[in-house]
Amino acid sequence: MIVKMDLHTHTKFSDGRNTVIDNIRSAEACGLEILGITDHVFRAEDFIWLDDLRNIIRKTNSSVKVLAGAEVHIKKDGTLPLSSDSLSKLDIVIGELYVPKEWNSSLTRMEFLEIVGESIKNLPRTSLLILLRIHYI
Ligand SMILES: [Zn+2]
Repeated sequence: MIVKMDLHTHTKFSDGRNTVIDNIRSAEACGLEILGITDHVFRAEDFIWLDDLRNIIRKTNSSVKVLAGAEVHIKKDGTLPLSSDSLSKLDIVIGELYVPKEWNSSLTRMEFLEIVGESIKNLPRTSLLILLRIHYI
């Protein structure tokens, strides 16, 4: 069985160009069954839109199952910008790690893996799905 889904989309809540409803309607038009709204959270102060997102999802009549999520920035020490309480309110969490060139040259592979491991430990076990996205910059 193949389930059509896109679990990583952004909206105007962060750096996306579309509204949540735009994304839902696009998902419907593409025949998706599941859509993840996963706007960026770099700092705890960024995380102000969850209630609005939940309300929009609740009020939008759609055949698409819409997941309320976030793409959270992983700090160099492996910590996340949100508390486990806040993270547990999400259906899906994407951990996002930016690896600048300085880290590449100054960190051993084991130190890098420790950052990744620490961040995974900080992600909630209650999320539907946890992904790790690594950007080499
Ligand atoms: Zn993203």
